[in-house]
Amino acid sequence: MLQPPGSPDAARDRAMPPVMRNWAGNITFNAARVHTPSSVERLREIVAGSGSVRALGSGHSFNTIADTHGDLVSVAGLPRIVEIDEAAATVTVSAGLRFAEFTGALHRAGLALHNLGSLPHISVAGACATGTHGSGAGNGTLASTVRAIELVTADGELLVLDRDDEDFAGAVLALGAAGIATRMTLDLVPAYDIRQWVYEGLPYERLRERFDEVLSAAYSVSLFTSWRTDRIEQLWLKQRVGDGDPAPDSRFGAVRADGPRHPVPGMDASTCTEQSGVPGPWHERLPHFRPEFTPSSGEELQSEYFVAREDGRAAFDALARIRERIAPVLQIGEIRTVAADGLWLSPAYGRDTVAFHFTWHPDTAAVTPVLDAIEEALAPFEVRPHWGKLFTMGPERVAALYERYADFEALTAKLDPRGVFRNDLLERYFPGGRG
Ligand SMILES: Cc1cc2nc3c(=O)[nH]c(=O)nc-3n(C[C@H](O)[C@H](O)[C@H](O)COP(=O)(O)OP(=O)(O)OC[C@H]3O[C@@H](n4cnc5c(N)ncnc54)[C@H](O)[C@@H]3O)c2cc1C
Repeated sequence: MLQPPGSPDAARDRAMPPVMRNWAGNITFNAARVHTPSSVERLREIVAGSGSVRALGSGHSFNTIADTHGDLVSVAGLPRIVEIDEAAATVTVSAGLRFAEFTGALHRAGLALHNLGSLPHISVAGACATGTHGSGAGNGTLASTVRAIELVTADGELLVLDRDDEDFAGAVLALGAAGIATRMTLDLVPAYDIRQWVYEGLPYERLRERFDEVLSAAYSVSLFTSWRTDRIEQLWLKQRVGDGDPAPDSRFGAVRADGPRHPVPGMDASTCTEQSGVPGPWHERLPHFRPEFTPSSGEELQSEYFVAREDGRAAFDALARIRERIAPVLQIGEIRTVAADGLWLSPAYGRDTVAFHFTWHPDTAAVTPVLDAIEEALAPFEVRPHWGKLFTMGPERVAALYERYADFEALTAKLDPRGVFRNDLLERYFPGGRG
């Protein structure tokens, strides 16, 4: 749904029946009405006149987080804004923009975001609302770069929050519960180039011996494993040009690939961003997948779990012990790092983090018991689930994982006394957030 015109995704979306589904097709939205307002004024009227309304980004989440029984509102139709402030090193963008729609303009202006997720197809507001991240020991979530956010609140009024506001850290990564974001101001850094290298066959034992070193071996590091062998099948190193190139023939016992690779076994690498050390702009190397193609495998479900960096190796061992449960329903797993931030519901709140991602076969019934097994295996590490992906742990357990959970509930009750932004998922996980 709502994919860029002309892309294979767009063709797939147009072919879909007139029911609203998420990108993965595993969620059918219950919305009674769908709106794509073309002005902020119209959006404000819709919110003020609705009893139940949710914002929809590009629909790339795998659970019911964006769902509603009332009004579903896409902000993709709001006027396009890309305002670069070179002196302040910021860009203000309309919240419904996909990263692919403005990162090129930043680069041409000599500026950059510090990081991107594995795909540039997602909207800024949706990505920030769920704590979407890329990789890199020093790189925080995408939401951690938000400097200011403009929201339509429950009464249809406009509210602008910036980092000086005490509510800000609860309202940026807010699962859509604080209001509907219309524009966001993001921190920028000077533009940079990246070389992307893929190495194959990293032995688990070498990873275990040098876990932190491997995960810090480049600006952004991804380890892809099917959990089927004793090796990480692919080690992706995204290095800033000037940092440590040229690449040696082998790293940590893994051998440099002799051509481009797709992380999912058997898939065509031409949909991936350029590899083999060819230097290129940050926005064409940090995502794994090119914007003009369907990302990842396209027929999949996803989950991701976050532990503190110091627990990363023990968590890896715990997953390796149940890998015969994981492997049969898995297309590919990915291990990344995320730097700590202070956003109340962030997967990296207060702790440098290791993220264990799973791209599953699209079979919810087979995957669900495996999620239970993973959550049990990782329970000793206060594991947090990705808000936009599949998980099974219940509200009491989730609530205990975030120091500021009660503050978040109080914030949403304050900003949304009518409960207009609440949906079934929020009712279940944030019962204290009712106004
Ligand atoms: C192929 C694939 C690869 C992925 N790779 C990564 C990855 O590398 N890293 C990662 O962390 N995640 C990844 N994800 C997950 C994805 O980044 C998140 O699910 C993200 O939320 C998707 O953004 P969206 O715009 O599609 O949001 P949606 O799924 O449309 O919405 C998500 C949430 O954001 C809220 N929201 C949307 N717009 C607004 C708005 N204007 N104001 C307020 N709230 C809003 C919604 O209400 C909802 O609660 C991936 C997903 C897919 C399908």
